[in-house]
Amino acid sequence: MRRSKPLPSMRTAALACVLAAGLLALGGCGARQPVVESREALATVVTITAYGDDEAAVRSAIEDAYAAMDEVAAELDAYDPTSALSRFNAQPYAAQELSALTVAVLDEIDALGVSDAFSPGLLAVSGLYHFEESGTVPPPADVTLAVRAAARFTRTDPTHGAFMPLPEATTDARLAPGGALAPGLDLGGAAKGLALDRARQVLQASGAVRAAIVSSGSSTVTLGTKPDGTAWRIGIEDPRDPDTLLATASFEGSGALSTSGDYQRYFEAGGVRYHHILDPTSGLPAGGVRSLTVAGSSLSGLESDILSTALFVMAPAAREAYAGEHGLGMVVVDAEGRTLLVPAPAGSGMALAEEAP
Ligand code: AMP
Ligand code: MG
Repeated sequence: MRRSKPLPSMRTAALACVLAAGLLALGGCGARQPVVESREALATVVTITAYGDDEAAVRSAIEDAYAAMDEVAAELDAYDPTSALSRFNAQPYAAQELSALTVAVLDEIDALGVSDAFSPGLLAVSGLYHFEESGTVPPPADVTLAVRAAARFTRTDPTHGAFMPLPEATTDARLAPGGALAPGLDLGGAAKGLALDRARQVLQASGAVRAAIVSSGSSTVTLGTKPDGTAWRIGIEDPRDPDTLLATASFEGSGALSTSGDYQRYFEAGGVRYHHILDPTSGLPAGGVRSLTVAGSSLSGLESDILSTALFVMAPAAREAYAGEHGLGMVVVDAEGRTLLVPAPAGSGMALAEEAP
């Protein structure tokens, strides 16, 4: 068995910075220098690159942006026992008010129409794999029980808390509050994107930042157009070789990109890779894909984060149909290592280009 890599998202962040810096250099004398700040946030490293005329005001906006991201993490991190979400999860069978941020995520899952692939209730199912430790292959019967409980963990009304009565005739103590199979919300597939949106809003509202790129590695949002007029460029790494770029996304202005991958949290047992993106119907790691990147100039960070996870889980035909209908760019690396690039519509403000091998 192998431990999942620490801070898996840094590489893409670093690539994004390198590309941004490279373009700056090419931009020559007219290009204004951005303020670049990298810090631990959202359990990874988040880099903010921001352009503005008043450096002190830009730095102050960046401080506020990190504070906004920390607030989202403090509310939505299901693995932080002090978070609002953890307090909610401690009472999984009681009708409770959901926090505004939780409602925002659940509403977005519904609005995107991806609830078959993106389930916010997989906390116990994920927990069975112990990804944060050395990894455990769970007994299939436990996975089935946890999946069934998760499927019944739904909102009883649009603004009210999730509520699930105890399954009838169960004597399994693990389904009781605090038990290993007790249902709970895990918004780990969406929270970073929402946090990046909050950071972008804070930077924009400051009035000091004219253009910016905020990246957590696996998710990136852009704001406005760079002062030298060149595109924001974000590198998409090879899921089996982080030193190699497979493709590049170029944004003319605002947009968002997210990558979900089987290399971000995983362990191997018996020659099988058990990774953290689970098929909600089986509770098993979703097959067929090594990494999936979705990008669009009209996407918010929250939308792109939910979609990268959801499209990863979907069957190939369904995901391509979804990307086509919604005008999304997509880069998929399948289980055989083949790269499929689905371009966004021409003139959409975002383009994907495959790197020469
Ligand atoms: P991401 O890296 O954005 O794809 O998010 C992966 C994380 O989302 C996992 O570590 C789990 O916390 C959670 N997750 C895993 N599978 C799903 C799923 N099918 N729907 C929603 N969240 C999931
Ligand atoms: Mg996601």
